[in-house]
Amino acid sequence: MTSEVINTSELHKMDPVFGQLSFDNHEQIVFCNDKDTGLKAIIGIHNTVLGPALGGTRMWNYASEWEALNDVLRLSRGMTYKSAITGLNLGGGKAVLIGDAKTQKTPELMLKFGEFVHSLGGKYITAEDVGMATADMDLVRTVTPYVTGISESKGGKGNPSPITAYGVFMGMKAAAKYSFGSDVLEGKVIYVQGIGNVGEGLVENLTNEGATVYISDINRERLEEVRDKYSVKIYEGDNIYAEKMDIYAPCALGATLNDTTINQLQTKIIAGAANNQLADEKKHGQMLRDKGIVWAPDFLINAGGIINVYAELENYDRKEIIRKTENIYNTTLEILKKADAEHITSYTAAYNIAQARIDARKSEK
Ligand code: NAD
Repeated sequence: MTSEVINTSELHKMDPVFGQLSFDNHEQIVFCNDKDTGLKAIIGIHNTVLGPALGGTRMWNYASEWEALNDVLRLSRGMTYKSAITGLNLGGGKAVLIGDAKTQKTPELMLKFGEFVHSLGGKYITAEDVGMATADMDLVRTVTPYVTGISESKGGKGNPSPITAYGVFMGMKAAAKYSFGSDVLEGKVIYVQGIGNVGEGLVENLTNEGATVYISDINRERLEEVRDKYSVKIYEGDNIYAEKMDIYAPCALGATLNDTTINQLQTKIIAGAANNQLADEKKHGQMLRDKGIVWAPDFLINAGGIINVYAELENYDRKEIIRKTENIYNTTLEILKKADAEHITSYTAAYNIAQARIDARKSEK
């Protein structure tokens, strides 16, 4: 994923932190720098009312520090609402490391990052995100207990991506039930954009159910690998948004739902794993509603991963992970019905429930 940035040329005209486009009353933003290892990281803690701020670490070759800051602000805020809507006692946080994960990620850099995480005393708990692997979290675990997503051999619950994919599949089925009257995806034409860790898991679930799946990715090798493994079709066109389909599953970039794409969309449902799919949540949520396109809120249906890592903190087992993840189906259906009944967008319906939970906890304190 590239950073989920709207317009960096506008950003530097604003106040550097509290006046940022994406600043939304974040509690704390920590800038971490280490000359020896080349570490440049930002940890964003959005809200800790429900619990410690848990969210993954993304390593990305950002075009500018502004992009990185904007990304961590948006992503950490998203985590607050993801945990709140999922019923977890966690706040929202996220970290970004500036650099190329393929060439600049070293054990020394990861250990130094772990030390910074540790210095926050548990207010922020990390996990893997784009550019990170379970092995990186295992390394961070050697310098701090405030890390999840560690391998099963080290007492963790392993890579969260397959569970994320399963949750997205559940959310997609609920959206199908709502739109088509049946949650059976057999024969439905589904485009999966981005076939990385989560996208591939989703393709597996979809092909098992007999859906007609098209895949798209910027990585040709990966496309061929996934095509051969699941007998799906590679999308060879150059504008996925304009294709006629039943379901569009964004599993790569954020902000793919924007002024340009929504006008072209011919899909009936959008349900995918990517974080922050709506470039502008209110505006683009409304545009989708006006077009009659059902959007399954990203922060709700991609919560399988956080359910999986939360199990490491709360010590629940695989059965409970699956139960909680399958519940994404019920919550999605409930939210889509609520949006309809209240004539609001599915984003607002989900956001309101999450915010109400945070407000209620705050008033108890
Ligand atoms: P990943 O890095 O494994 O895969 C992303 C894939 O998208 C890669 O194959 C990449 O080549 C492809 N891609 C990048 N730009 C693209 C473009 N313009 N068009 C098409 N493909 C493109 O990441 P992932 O772990 O599979 O995560 C996918 C998305 O889901 C991310 O937005 C991530 O934040 C979100 N998410 C992941 C998890 C998880 O458990 N991994 C949990 C919640 C949300």
